[in-house]
Amino acid sequence: MIESTPFPEAVLDRQCEQRSEPGFMEKVLSSASHRVMVFQRGQALMAGSTPAFLAPEVLPDVTPEGTTVVYLGKVGPGQGHVLPQGTDLVLYALPDDADEPDWVPDGGTFARFRDVAVNFTAVDEQAFVQAQAVANWHASHRHCPRCGSKTIMDAAGWMRRCPQDGSQHFPRTDPAVIVAIVGSDDRILLANNRQWENNRYSTVAGFVEGGESAEQAAVREIAEEVGVHLHSLNYISSQAWPFPQSLMLGFLGHTADTVAVPDNVEVRGARWFARGELQSAVLAGEVQISHRLSIARALIEHWYGGAIVEPGDKA
Ligand SMILES: [Zn+2]
Repeated sequence: MIESTPFPEAVLDRQCEQRSEPGFMEKVLSSASHRVMVFQRGQALMAGSTPAFLAPEVLPDVTPEGTTVVYLGKVGPGQGHVLPQGTDLVLYALPDDADEPDWVPDGGTFARFRDVAVNFTAVDEQAFVQAQAVANWHASHRHCPRCGSKTIMDAAGWMRRCPQDGSQHFPRTDPAVIVAIVGSDDRILLANNRQWENNRYSTVAGFVEGGESAEQAAVREIAEEVGVHLHSLNYISSQAWPFPQSLMLGFLGHTADTVAVPDNVEVRGARWFARGELQSAVLAGEVQISHRLSIARALIEHWYGGAIVEPGDKA
């Protein structure tokens, strides 16, 4: 049941086998048709409301010092994107401490995913999320965890290799569970996190610990944070959330409990909503729920059975 997740299908072919071959990256970079996404400090260079995909002639002749160059993938068929099918996308992740480059085209600004992604196509979204994930990893994993030597990038940016002991290291992803809790009367239990405004409600999430299954983590986190016991779980879908490196595994969790006990550490309050009640509260501006890019929203709407309308939506 993956239809409820935003952008469920892979729209960039990562060329996982080819990208490890010697000379792959050189071949891509020497072609006139490849395009480059520029990334710095968790932000992508934009062209209007979508990421800028720069042609090679716009870029400086020499790759800026310290830039991490990574192959993102080939635009797949049927995307209807401004970039034609088969275009190779490459990431330039500039060092965080470098000045903003002077070769940025006029009007180009850098933006964070959350601030701009609502206007994205699937290709824009996939490129940005991949760029964010791999840039975060390179920035924080420069040394070998075994011997401390400086590692060398390989496989078009998808591996780092230790020159001392030959060990190979791959981008890290931390699994997390996110659960929409449904009661025996079919109402949903949403939580208000202590870091949010008082009227914002969402699903409950937490990290999977070592040696723990996703289901065990879901039962544990829900018991800890809102004090209800889940007797069964249905996996719905997942979403890469590289802020900094999570993979969110989305579930519907079912409980026979009717009284929630917020932990007051992470969760300030929890509230049951029937479908009509939630829609009315959102429309009235009384309650805010997660934004449409999030798996939290997808899970809530999966339970709801359709899109939830917000005050700003056009009729
Ligand atoms: Zn090493």
